[in-house]
Amino acid sequence: MPFSTRGDSPAITDLRTRVRRTLHAVTSPQRLNRHDEDETYDFELYEALAAEGLVGLEADVDGRGPSHTSQVTVLEELGAGATSIGVSMVVQYMGVELLHRYGTGDQKAEWLGPLLSGSARMSFGLSEPAGGTDVARQMATWARRAPDGTWLINGAKKWIGGASTATFIILLARTSAVEKSGIDGISMFIIPRDTPGITTTPIDTMGIRGLEQADVILEDVAVPAENVLGDVGSGFRNVLATLNGERLNGAAVALGIARGALSCAVDYANGRHAFDKPIGSFQGLQHPLVDALTRTESARHLLYNGAEMSDQGSGEAVENLSGLAKLSASEAATTATDIGMRVMGGWGFHRHLPMQRYFRDARLYTFAPLTDEMIRNQLAQRHLGLPRST
Ligand SMILES: Cc1cc2nc3c(=O)[nH]c(=O)nc-3n(C[C@H](O)[C@H](O)[C@H](O)COP(=O)(O)OP(=O)(O)OC[C@H]3O[C@@H](n4cnc5c(N)ncnc54)[C@H](O)[C@@H]3O)c2cc1C
Repeated sequence: MPFSTRGDSPAITDLRTRVRRTLHAVTSPQRLNRHDEDETYDFELYEALAAEGLVGLEADVDGRGPSHTSQVTVLEELGAGATSIGVSMVVQYMGVELLHRYGTGDQKAEWLGPLLSGSARMSFGLSEPAGGTDVARQMATWARRAPDGTWLINGAKKWIGGASTATFIILLARTSAVEKSGIDGISMFIIPRDTPGITTTPIDTMGIRGLEQADVILEDVAVPAENVLGDVGSGFRNVLATLNGERLNGAAVALGIARGALSCAVDYANGRHAFDKPIGSFQGLQHPLVDALTRTESARHLLYNGAEMSDQGSGEAVENLSGLAKLSASEAATTATDIGMRVMGGWGFHRHLPMQRYFRDARLYTFAPLTDEMIRNQLAQRHLGLPRST
């Protein structure tokens, strides 16, 4: 791995090799570019990754979940090239975690098993047109219980990755009025994508174009009582409990973007000549490249430390570390892609070359799954002991 200042265990080295081998066998820079240009999802690549066991990892239906260290390893590798597939894998890992933690035996058999094997793919429906950061208070999607126990869901979700082709959506809807806590009264539902009343419309996005983002409209969508995931009213709380993993996984894709962009920039700096020298010999380019390297490697240490600590058991230290890792990786990605564009001059603009894709894709992890501003708020309060930000 170019630039890495951190050693992997033999198991993680083996896992990295499996991801790289699968990427090498199925995809190519041209193919990644085509999916980005055409805004199409690479189903064949996803299926190959699933067949290699990279969705399920160490997880089984009955007890064991995938380790955080394994998840971030796969996601870093995908982020470095097949970024959109990496983003969709973040969603699958989230589904695995939610079903593992809150699923009943029947739900695990029906939904988790196929997810782990890759025969099913899921979308996660939380954000809404009027609310992302403050989605719990703003949530306008309602689920109301009919006399026979069936839930009828009406509302709209925004930016839902892969929603038109997913097998099912894990979706949050309000089931009782906003309470004082602001986060209770929301429930989580497992909804087969082909349930009548669901309409999806793709959104034309600047980045992550190899994974469709969709508007999802729900009109009288009937969901049986047994498809409530976790306790009624606790859905948003349950999602918050998985946020450490989400932050780590987002950080891993961002780290991959930083590494991929830096590697491209250094190759270019060595190969391109000006004034009879490789442009990489100019100090004006070397210093910002080293700054990007420093950010990338700092993010790597925070991320893998956070993942290892998470695997050993959660706690406030892990919460802070996962926040620091996410911030650090998002900044590494934006810094590396910015200097990458500068190093490549006009060639950075060429749509057949990957730098402009990294540059666009890097923006996602400045605001997802949680905005960098909110992470700063949380770190200020929890880590620095400052008053709650207003
Ligand atoms: C490519 C892509 C994929 C996505 N995938 C999914 C998905 O699969 N499922 C899903 O549910 N959602 C998804 N999202 C939505 C994403 O999670 C939201 O965009 C994100 O949570 C931010 O919400 P918002 O865009 O509504 O921004 P807003 O919440 O409107 O925030 C706007 C600005 O206000 C700032 N702000 C808000 N509150 C505070 C505060 N208290 N202090 C300081 N600053 C504050 C924010 O930091 C930000 O800078 C996706 C989005 C994109 C673009």
